[in-house]
Amino acid sequence: MNILVFGPNGSGKGTQGAIIQKKYGMPHIESGAIFRQNIGGGTELGKKAKAYIDRGDLVPDDITIPMILNRLQESDCQKGWILDGFPRNKVQAETLAKALKDAGMNLDYVIEIVLPRDVAKLRITGRRLCVNDNNHPNHIAFDAIKPVEKDGKMVCRVCGGELKTRPDDQDDAAIDKRHDIYYDDKTGTMAAVNFFKGLGGDTKVISVDGRPSIGEVTEAIMKELN
Ligand code: AMP
Repeated sequence: MNILVFGPNGSGKGTQGAIIQKKYGMPHIESGAIFRQNIGGGTELGKKAKAYIDRGDLVPDDITIPMILNRLQESDCQKGWILDGFPRNKVQAETLAKALKDAGMNLDYVIEIVLPRDVAKLRITGRRLCVNDNNHPNHIAFDAIKPVEKDGKMVCRVCGGELKTRPDDQDDAAIDKRHDIYYDDKTGTMAAVNFFKGLGGDTKVISVDGRPSIGEVTEAIMKELN
């Protein structure tokens, strides 16, 4: 089963992607997380990407597109994948659709988590990243995924690991820029969403309201996945 997950920053798409991964066992490929791992590891790719990410800009397509298409060729993707954070613009969408077609890969589901921009922004500044596992959701404003306190410090509620904030989550201008890109339906991410919605064929589109609780959003998605 091959799945694309769309949603603005703050919509919980990473959280839902992680839940789907757990249930179905296929890799959860997050473009943003791959960049952050490379930045943390001091790789050439990380060095190239860092300034763009800190500003909330997209990393150029000539870096991002091959990175993701190569990732989809890895052996763990043969039984399916969940792609999250890619495509983020129309060019990436068209390139991905062509690459899938050329590789004879089907796109089974497009999940769109719909969230108004003001709600998404409010959610971003409270989220925390577990240093051990990016798929451990933590957020200081939501009881269901609130970090826990240990020795006077807030730690990951799943594994007790150290928590970090993303620099681009604490920078107002970077948040706004990421949302400008997401909600842009001419060439940005909404244009990519609409491109896949219009593809037809065997691809099923699942649009869910991102405002209810994590569990309710999961339920709405799971009802449609089979
Ligand atoms: P995310 O973790 O999905 O919020 O991504 C963090 C940052 O990584 C974004 O703001 C971009 O700078 C970069 N990034 C992630 N995915 C892409 C993509 N598909 N194309 C270009 N840049 C990306």
